Amino acid sequence: MRGVLKVSAGLLLAVLLVAVVVLVPPHRQVRRVQPALPSDAELRQLLQAENGPVSVRYFYTSTQKLEQGELAHTVFVARWADGRLFVIDLGMDRAAAAEFAELLQTVMQAEEAQFHGHAAELMSDTVGRVEGVGLTHLHIDHTQGVVPFCEARGPGATLYQTSFQAELHNLHTEESAALLAASCLEREVLDGGGVQAVSGFPGLGMVALGGHTPGSTLFALASGGRLWLFSGDITNTKADLLADRGKGFVYSYLLVPEDTERAGLLRRWLARLDAEEDMTVVVSHDRADVDGSGLAEYGPP
Ligand SMILES: [Zn+2]
Repeated sequence: MRGVLKVSAGLLLAVLLVAVVVLVPPHRQVRRVQPALPSDAELRQLLQAENGPVSVRYFYTSTQKLEQGELAHTVFVARWADGRLFVIDLGMDRAAAAEFAELLQTVMQAEEAQFHGHAAELMSDTVGRVEGVGLTHLHIDHTQGVVPFCEARGPGATLYQTSFQAELHNLHTEESAALLAASCLEREVLDGGGVQAVSGFPGLGMVALGGHTPGSTLFALASGGRLWLFSGDITNTKADLLADRGKGFVYSYLLVPEDTERAGLLRRWLARLDAEEDMTVVVSHDRADVDGSGLAEYGPP
């Protein structure tokens, strides 16, 4: 009996040691990302842009019913008057979506996922008009769609990233970074705090966030007199954002190394902006929120 206890204690110690070695560096890394957030006035400057996007729409590459709510893998598409498109996030192809969904079926009793098509399929001919790509962060469920995207699009589109997103990687973002490095996308890295205007796409700005991943980025788009704020995975649901609810110890410390303090600050900042009359925060994975945001679903014209 004593021998068994000794072995168990030894095993537990070994597991803890591995956890510390694996998890401490990414936690320290994400905590170093503390860029200044823009003022409301700075954000609203995007609304003054001439020739801003004429429409902002969305589609889902896959959706999955959870015990509560429905998880969506959302792609946002902004169109300018000359037909050029900018997409925010790329979702996954069928195989990657199935693999991701299976994980949630195992750990969260989620239902089977519904695959709607990868980004290039759902955009059909209009994929050739995509000239800009932005990613809310480099987790695989937002990036893997770059593979079929590039097969359909070929060269000609640019990936816009903050320096944090381009340079700081951890165990969960390295795979995406490698996919992007091998992809058809050219790259432009924007540096600094506050709103970084994306040149060539008036009305579009990027804000470095951190919190969820070192490269987590807010995309702000002025369209129809409204500022649409795409917050990625700072929260998984709009309700969590509005109630200032974190993701819990297991998620934020063991599964995804988050800076929980920064994430809290971002939740409160975004909830306050969402309450402004001319701003709407859209939470990528929350199907009910995206459906109810007022944005129209993407359909090739
Ligand atoms: Zn995600």
